Amino acid sequence: MLGGTSEAAALARRLAHLDGLETIVSFAGRTEAPELPETGARIETRIGGFGGTAAMASYLAENAIDIIVDATHPFATGISANAVEAAAVAGIPSLRLDRPPWTPGPGDNWRIVDDEGEAAALLPAGARAFLALGAQRVAAFDSRQDVFRVARVVDRPPASPLAGPHLVVTGRGPFDLASELALLREHAITHIVARNSGGEGARAKLLAARELCLPVIMIRRPPAPHAAETTVASVDDAMRAILRLTS
Ligand code: NAP
Repeated sequence: MLGGTSEAAALARRLAHLDGLETIVSFAGRTEAPELPETGARIETRIGGFGGTAAMASYLAENAIDIIVDATHPFATGISANAVEAAAVAGIPSLRLDRPPWTPGPGDNWRIVDDEGEAAALLPAGARAFLALGAQRVAAFDSRQDVFRVARVVDRPPASPLAGPHLVVTGRGPFDLASELALLREHAITHIVARNSGGEGARAKLLAARELCLPVIMIRRPPAPHAAETTVASVDDAMRAILRLTS
């Protein structure tokens, strides 16, 4: 299983109780302390890139893997493409666990954009923007030094990822409504910039935006480069598909 999401962690916890199946959960190693499943007789972890598609296919063969489960983040499209191609080379099924994107509801004020550059251009001068994007994605907002930017990252980087007026705050989901409301109020945020990751752990900022009537600039998902053989939207459905595809 390619992990790095809370859904992958939840699926790993379920698989740990399944007789007759051994699971290896793979992490890229981007965060200092990934949410690791409890390892034991049925769960192992590995950390770090494979070295591309061919190397992943070799890994699958060498470890006699029967199925690859891609439970990575919806914006991690490189690894998802590699998973589909490597599964085809290794001749094993591929399963994608893809959490549904968020959709705006009554009371929401969303502008939907394609990328960070478009999001940055939409911010009005003098805004105070909350960037819920991660450290790797905020550089595009350096063009907007007329905006005070509050960037949330998982691990504080050694050097700030932004220039000009800004603040870096750290936090790891899941987040709740009360703490998101407190954060937005504390920094007098006027606009939220988010990626449409979907899932429950990061939804609270959108509920907080609704409650405070704040506009959200939502970056749409990149198109999935290749479709896995089977795609499911929930951990329950992933369990059922794994049982079916490995029996
Ligand atoms: P990416 O751009 O799709 O992948 C870049 C490279 O990182 C891959 O080619 C692969 O290297 C390595 N890699 C990525 N995920 C891996 C995994 N689970 N196990 C082993 N190697 C992996 O990915 P990304 O956007 O940097 O995301 C990296 C990880 O962070 C993913 O596991 C994802 O679930 C998690 N994550 C990403 C985001 C996000 O916003 N993108 C948010 C939360 C969590 P090789 O080619 O060398 O194999």
